[in-house]
Amino acid sequence: MKWLGFLIHAAVFLALTLLTQIGGLVYLLAWALTFNIRRFLPRQFWRVVLFLTLYVGALFAAREMAPVYGRVPLPCLEGEQREFRMQSPIYCLLNRNYVRPEVRSMILDLAIHMNREFPGTITLGLDANFPFFDGFPLFPHLSHDDGRKLDLAFYYRDDKGYLPGVSASPVGYWAFAAAPDHLLCPAQRPWHSPRWDMAWFQQYNRGLSVDLDRTKAALNWLLAAGEAHGLEKIFLEPSLQKKWGISGGVVRFQGCNAARHDDHIHLQLGD
Ligand SMILES: [Zn+2]
Repeated sequence: MKWLGFLIHAAVFLALTLLTQIGGLVYLLAWALTFNIRRFLPRQFWRVVLFLTLYVGALFAAREMAPVYGRVPLPCLEGEQREFRMQSPIYCLLNRNYVRPEVRSMILDLAIHMNREFPGTITLGLDANFPFFDGFPLFPHLSHDDGRKLDLAFYYRDDKGYLPGVSASPVGYWAFAAAPDHLLCPAQRPWHSPRWDMAWFQQYNRGLSVDLDRTKAALNWLLAAGEAHGLEKIFLEPSLQKKWGISGGVVRFQGCNAARHDDHIHLQLGD
């Protein structure tokens, strides 16, 4: 059954690499360093302990080394930056919060603007890029591979008003603000199309509405001030462009062969 063990290790390596970029290498290192250990407790125990220890070290090392590759981390924790943070610290634990300095500068300017216009507003980031290497995609996004891309969460509210730092979906994505647009893109799509409707996931979303005042204000700021920061494209589903009166300029439809963009805003800077 040696081949089964090899397959399991290969699958873990692949999954960790796709999810975190550096996790697969850390796993290989932990596996190699514990290969001959047989003391006190099973080898798997030491392997997990060593993996977690090395992974935490690698997270800090990535933060220090990313600038060599032209990337900087976006703020992760409450209090680090009052107006902006990643939607969940998990994005940072998975190394998915890296951008070029120009993107960070634009997004912090947006967040400060939003907090000035609507005091108490927190702008939330979703998937950005990994810390190293242009051309290494951030699974499952096809294009987040060069530090120039960032997804932003919509702002949300309940009956009583705006909810700071809260999003409708526990993971930030897949709380769709519109119905599936099958006139735009046919319901029957190839198996590899990432235009998922995520019907099974909808039960996990909180019943919140998009805070239109804030979300539209953020989009309008990006349309007005984004160009000075090098903003090249904003992806937003055409039905929302129409409904919210946000169109033209850098606002685009991402095409049918990409994820739906009625649950988040995709931004990308030019070269
Ligand atoms: Zn995106």
